[in-house]
Amino acid sequence: MHTSATWLMSLMLSLSTQVAAQHKHSHAHEHGVVRLDVAVQGESLTVNLDAPLDSLVGFERAPRNDKERQAADEVLARLKSGAGLFNGDASAQCTLSKAEVKAPVLEAGATAKGGHADLEASYEFRCTLPAQLRTLDLGLFEAFKRIQRIDVQVAGARGQVKVTLRRPARSVRLVR
Ligand SMILES: [Zn+2]
Repeated sequence: MHTSATWLMSLMLSLSTQVAAQHKHSHAHEHGVVRLDVAVQGESLTVNLDAPLDSLVGFERAPRNDKERQAADEVLARLKSGAGLFNGDASAQCTLSKAEVKAPVLEAGATAKGGHADLEASYEFRCTLPAQLRTLDLGLFEAFKRIQRIDVQVAGARGQVKVTLRRPARSVRLVR
């Protein structure tokens, strides 16, 4: 039996489900906001970056001229090297063992879906003295002027913590 109230309720529920599904599908992002997942496990420190391409290179499509191509190449090289972007405590002696950068839309001929495109990068560091790891210093604000906020999720053996960094903050406490 359907009263108008339960009908309205189920309509609202299905609408909100649709909105959520659409949001997920279009992978909408907010320019200036990047996501960072940080995990410490044993000797490894892993960092995953998910950023609107706009916040890194200033556009979200394949480069249209030499200047844009050069800008994109510089950003890709910088991220691939990871130099100065993610710094664990020096005493923990962490070295970058793996770095992967994905930005398919920057490839020639590629088109952004719905006008937006992301860049994903992942890093793995091996630390000689992981017990010394207490903070992760981020060089992202310095390297990329268009980033305004970093939403960080830190995972460790004891759980997860969410932290939001705004300029000029750059230090993330690591949970262990
Ligand atoms: Zn965008």
